Amino acid sequence: MSVQPDDRDPDRPAGRTGPGTEPDAGPDPALRADCGDCFGLCCVALTLTASADFPADKDAGEPCRHLGTDFRCGIHRRLREQGYRGCTVYDCFGAGQKVSRITFGGQDWRREPGSAERMFAVLPVMRQLHELLWYLGEALTLEPARPLHDELREALAGRPCPAPAGRRRRSG
Ligand code: SF4
Repeated sequence: MSVQPDDRDPDRPAGRTGPGTEPDAGPDPALRADCGDCFGLCCVALTLTASADFPADKDAGEPCRHLGTDFRCGIHRRLREQGYRGCTVYDCFGAGQKVSRITFGGQDWRREPGSAERMFAVLPVMRQLHELLWYLGEALTLEPARPLHDELREALAGRPCPAPAGRRRRSG
C-alpha cells in the first residue's frame, strides 16, 4: 500500500502531513511515510481481506499484484476508482523506510529473500512504535496536555519517567 505523495487522501487529517521542526512543534518528520525510500513493505507484508477498501484477499508475504519490481504501485493514480481506497489512507508513520533502510540496512526482500520473513514481521511492530511516537509528539502541541509535557519529553528522549507522586513506593 505504498501511498505516493500525490495519492494522499484529501480528507486525511492535516496534522498527519504537517512536519515539526522543533521538539514541541509536532511529531518528528521522520514519522512521515516516505514511500520512495521503502521497499513497498505494506504492499507485501500485510494480510489484506477483500472489502470496500481493498478488492482482493492477500496473504502476508504475498506481493500485491500491482506492486512493481521497482517497489512502486502500478495503479497509484487510479487507486480509488479501482477499489483500493484503503491504499490511499494507510499510514505507516515512517515505519516502512525505517525497516527498509535502517533495520535491514537497505537490503530489499527481493534481492535478499532470506530476510523477507523477518522484515515483514518487523513492519507492524515498527509501525505501532512509530504511531505511539507520533501521538507523543502531537500531545506536545496540545495545550490541555501541558501538565504532561515534561513527562512526554522524557519519554520521547527515552528516559524513564518518574512515577507520579501518588504511586511512588515507600522505601524502608
Ligand atoms: S494497489 Fe497494491 S501496490 Fe498499489 S498501493 Fe495498494 S497494495 Fe500497494
